[in-house]
Amino acid sequence: MTANECLFCKIVVGDVPADILYKDDEVLAFRDINPQAPIHILVIPKQHLDSLASVADENRNLMGHIMLTAKEIARDEGLSHSGYRTVINVGADGGQTVHHLHLHLLGGRALRWPPG
Ligand code: AMP
Ligand code: ZN
Repeated sequence: MTANECLFCKIVVGDVPADILYKDDEVLAFRDINPQAPIHILVIPKQHLDSLASVADENRNLMGHIMLTAKEIARDEGLSHSGYRTVINVGADGGQTVHHLHLHLLGGRALRWPPG
């Protein structure tokens, strides 16, 4: 898929609307359109990367930035004490449906384990 056809790239440039909570030069965070928990937020790189499987050594800092952004948003959403989960689905067996790397931040209820 080219970046032109990618849903999350369209959110990055503003062609598709989203409930954006945070953005900077490298990452964007917005609420999931089909939340699986009371708080369900996606953190994505602005640059198009298909999945975690496409991440290279040069993306090391970016991946750390995505994780730290998730932590800060979790804190801002009041989840630090109750806890939360971060998930990156990869590929078919991982259940990835949007092929632009994204980290799910889920919280606001007790989450079951293992996932289905
Ligand atoms: P995954 O299954 O890990 O690829 O997750 C893709 C996520 O993107 C799902 O949780 C969807 O609900 C979410 N999603 C799909 N389209 C949109 C959209 N337009 N705005 C916000 N979230 C979306
Ligand atoms: Zn994309």
